[in-house]
Amino acid sequence: MSEEVAIAEERIERLAESARTAARAGDADRAKAYVRRTRRIAERHRLSLPKPFERFTCNACDAYLLPGHNARVRTSDGHVVITCDCGSHARYPYDDQ
Ligand SMILES: [Zn+2]
Repeated sequence: MSEEVAIAEERIERLAESARTAARAGDADRAKAYVRRTRRIAERHRLSLPKPFERFTCNACDAYLLPGHNARVRTSDGHVVITCDCGSHARYPYDDQ
């Protein structure tokens, strides 16, 4: 792994954490900004995003999703369905957490 990739991965980890912290603090706009930056870095370096980050960010509006706060989570047919307040929802296989 090149040093550049290692640095990018570390930045992704840190930005993802910042997004979560901002969302928890109720700063939705700042959380979205972090989410976008995280995605941009991952794209630029063709890195995959941490799974929890992928699950708990909205692909439509870039919100960092906190179940019970700005997202609803339910299960159906062996899938987890996460619905963002913007109305967008994503389905994941139940076991693939
Ligand atoms: Zn959304």
